[in-house]
Amino acid sequence: MEHIPKEKSVLAMSPKNDPVLRVESGSSVVFETCDCFGNKIQSEDHLFSSVGWDSVNPATGPLYIEGAEPNDILKVEILDISIADKGVMTTAPNFGVLGDLFKEEVTKIIPIKNGQVIFNDKIQIPIKPMIGVMGVAPTEGEILAGTPGEHGGNMDCKRLVKGSIIYLPVNVSGALLSMGDLHAAQADGEIVMCAVEIPGKVTVKATVVKNKSLPLPILMEGGHIMTIASAELLDDAATNATKNMHTFLMNELNMDLHESGMLLSLVGELRICQVVNPLKTARMEIPKWVLEHYNYTMI
Ligand code: CA
Ligand code: CA
Repeated sequence: MEHIPKEKSVLAMSPKNDPVLRVESGSSVVFETCDCFGNKIQSEDHLFSSVGWDSVNPATGPLYIEGAEPNDILKVEILDISIADKGVMTTAPNFGVLGDLFKEEVTKIIPIKNGQVIFNDKIQIPIKPMIGVMGVAPTEGEILAGTPGEHGGNMDCKRLVKGSIIYLPVNVSGALLSMGDLHAAQADGEIVMCAVEIPGKVTVKATVVKNKSLPLPILMEGGHIMTIASAELLDDAATNATKNMHTFLMNELNMDLHESGMLLSLVGELRICQVVNPLKTARMEIPKWVLEHYNYTMI
């Protein structure tokens, strides 16, 4: 299987980034990733400010998928995620929801043992490895890897895990897929602006889908399909995620304007992904059985 080493990474997603690997549609590739600090924090003496904004959130890639052209959809199946045996968390003044309370920076090194995050001597949390950053190049300009958007990016969605499938837009030839920022565990919100940040490896299968239009990004995981949206204000992110699912129900299941809205009131779970990045991210989840009852098969 093809493999991209962690040294091949970008700090912004851009059509100008040279691909580090080219594969046929339907290929599986292993992305080796640094943690969001570029693996630069190795002890509790190393503080977030020592890393420097310029090198935060490296995303391994970009991968060029042959045949991907603008207006196609890139289907990315997460086949596997493996993580290192040690993660790190940091807090810093003015970062995250509690940043106004923090007067100093603190770094916490967090061991991973027997499938558990060893948070302290009283609390262990089961690992649930997830991908914080996964995205494609925008049509023009560049989007920092720390920013989420329609292209994917730093969505910090805790449901982007092994076994999930994410659908991203193709904006440029080859799509230019990159990813990084793995978390051993993260809760919705990501309150202090980081989770258990950890290096690792992600194995994905990337497939180009032609002649299909969907409100993206869309994620399938467990028993749910979800639309993900990001905006400066969480209210707008929530509204946009909801409207995207509403559009999906109308376009794909042929439900009418009002009935699809009513259904969302009943089975649509509106949730927060994160509230700490330059844009906030929300998702609207509906159970997959809704699709099954309409005999709808996702691409
Ligand atoms: Ca992140
Ligand atoms: Ca992170």
